[in-house]
Amino acid sequence: MKSKPIPFEFIKSLEKLLGKDWVLTKESDLLAYSYDSSSLIKIPSAVAFPEKKEEVIEILKLAQKYKVPIISRGAGTATTGSPLAHKGGLVLCFSRMNRILELNEEERIVIVEPGVLNGDLKKFLKKYGFFYPPDPASFAYSTIGGNVATGAGGPKCFKYGTTKDYVLALEVVLPGGKVLKTAPYTLKAAVFYNITPLFVGSEGTLGVFTEIVLKIIPLPEKRLLFLSAHKKEEKPLEIISQLLKNKVTPASAEFVDKTTFLALLNSKQKDLLKNFANFKALLFLELDGEESAVDKEKSKVEKFYNDLGIFYIKAEEEEEIERLWDIRRAISPALKILGEKKIADDVVVPRRFMKELLFRIRKIEEETGLNICCFGHAGDGNFHVNILFNPEKEKIALKVREEIIKEVLSLEGTISGEHGIGYTKKSFVSWELSPFQIEIMKKLKKVFDPDGILNPHIKIPD
Ligand SMILES: Cc1cc2nc3c(=O)[nH]c(=O)nc-3n(C[C@H](O)[C@H](O)[C@H](O)COP(=O)(O)OP(=O)(O)OC[C@H]3O[C@@H](n4cnc5c(N)ncnc54)[C@H](O)[C@@H]3O)c2cc1C
Repeated sequence: MKSKPIPFEFIKSLEKLLGKDWVLTKESDLLAYSYDSSSLIKIPSAVAFPEKKEEVIEILKLAQKYKVPIISRGAGTATTGSPLAHKGGLVLCFSRMNRILELNEEERIVIVEPGVLNGDLKKFLKKYGFFYPPDPASFAYSTIGGNVATGAGGPKCFKYGTTKDYVLALEVVLPGGKVLKTAPYTLKAAVFYNITPLFVGSEGTLGVFTEIVLKIIPLPEKRLLFLSAHKKEEKPLEIISQLLKNKVTPASAEFVDKTTFLALLNSKQKDLLKNFANFKALLFLELDGEESAVDKEKSKVEKFYNDLGIFYIKAEEEEEIERLWDIRRAISPALKILGEKKIADDVVVPRRFMKELLFRIRKIEEETGLNICCFGHAGDGNFHVNILFNPEKEKIALKVREEIIKEVLSLEGTISGEHGIGYTKKSFVSWELSPFQIEIMKKLKKVFDPDGILNPHIKIPD
């Protein structure tokens, strides 16, 4: 597969602006920016590495002039093909714009460039006793720019909310180099339309972020993790509902279904799970907050688990908590034993329908004989549905995916809770949205990107 050429003058101007070292055009170099965590490979025409916003502004002026598609890229961990140049174009990689610009403890905000890694920001804030909760499982290597553009979630988002709940304002560069501040850097603002949320989850289709203002909160005083094991697969989902009704608010409630659990029992984490071998499902339940509040909730959970005769272990030391979370983090690599290929979705249904969705998916699994995993952020009603298969079963797997999406929609759900649409789910958007909603998406895109040069070919149906 060859990369699509773009005007020679455009490349020359880029090289003049950034220096030759920061513009890639050789096919062998471009390969490194041709993939993300989907299975797609799309070689861009060129890759540029701006170091400051003034350079981004100039690049977007040039892109407008030469009508070159601009594909923003953080760390390339998206699961949907969203940071890829589907029909050529310039990949704008933010690895050099990775500075934490300001921490304001009084305002409880932090201002960052888009290329800062989520994990680096967490480490930095911890030194000052602060906390930025959104924690995609990829937090150690995904960027804040990518997290904002996908609306990333994670285990902690059950209690604390997802990325959308932490973005106070954005500085966005539009085609032609216009700079738009979506809001003042204040904690409240009611003058301009509230457009910041429009950019969260926009997947690079509306503008290029150069500065991100995030809300932060004090680091919780205490953490505590319960890992429970269950003989009935759906039991953890019932437990979450009952705990919520009981006014317990866990920081995280992560579910491991029976198919995923089987894979974990054969993974590098199998020693940690040796006491759990006779069970079918797991529930990770983390509590955090002020010490007295955590202790109160701990007693409630312990009583609840003991009354029901639930098998669990409890970790109260940081190191032990992280060791147990390693089991959850090991899921992605562990699934490889279930099939050479995978289709991964992140569907959401109202919490009350999670059990029903699980039953329906199991029925599909029995009928087709494929391995279907449903793990993840059960507290949010968000299942990571992974269909594992060998290449000869691809057609069946694609059909299964369609069946599952139909079930999700029939249960008042949505096809993506946090990974976004990108390229791989674009054909399903019209299954969920009405023609009127899609028309609104197209009109909004035109307001910010009239020539359609920002991440074309993703998110919005053709
Ligand atoms: C093992 C694994 C676990 C994961 N777990 C989770 C999880 O728990 N929760 C979750 O939500 N996701 C998860 N993901 C998906 C992925 O990590 C997230 O979507 C993440 O937010 C992507 O960040 P990134 O820096 O890699 O962005 P990229 O993949 O590079 O880009 C993602 C999108 O952001 C846009 N973008 C990047 N930078 C900018 C910018 N400066 N301006 C405008 N647009 C920009 C890109 O164009 C693209 O549309 C996981 C992925 C992997 C591989």
